[in-house]
Amino acid sequence: MANNFKLTDNMLSRRVRKAALAYARAGVPVFPVFGIEDGKCLCGKKNCEHEGKHPVVKGGFKEATIDSDQIKQWWEEYPKSNIGSPLVEGLFALDFDGKKGKKAFEDLGLEEFETLRATTGKGFHLYVHAELKAKNDAMSGLDIRGGGEGGYIILPPSRHVSGKRYQWEV
Ligand SMILES: [Zn+2]
Repeated sequence: MANNFKLTDNMLSRRVRKAALAYARAGVPVFPVFGIEDGKCLCGKKNCEHEGKHPVVKGGFKEATIDSDQIKQWWEEYPKSNIGSPLVEGLFALDFDGKKGKKAFEDLGLEEFETLRATTGKGFHLYVHAELKAKNDAMSGLDIRGGGEGGYIILPPSRHVSGKRYQWEV
């Protein structure tokens, strides 16, 4: 039954808000990122290049918090926001995007690597904890973010511009 259950837009908005509060309770700081409506970024810019991925709040990821009152206030003001979360020191997100991303993933031999994974619009995020200092870097199909370098990530169940949702693979 769950598989053919279609979420309405409002239900998804409530679910995203609920997830934002749940992350905060688990100690994961969050901040609102512009959501997607009718296939477009809610920032309202005509040629937005980061649809559904850039901060609503001025300070961006620096405003991320686990304060539930603040989170409730943000989501009241911007009820269709996506969830952004800064990657703390040592935590990296490997963003494999599209066909190139799939190839990079195979080339790196990560198929058997067990870690937290979320599907995105065109690929997936792998979360890894590593004792290394790496700058945000990109290679073909793979974007590495995090490690306390100011990177942030969009968390499930946020909306992707493709019409899909970010989802944990569990
Ligand atoms: Zn935008």
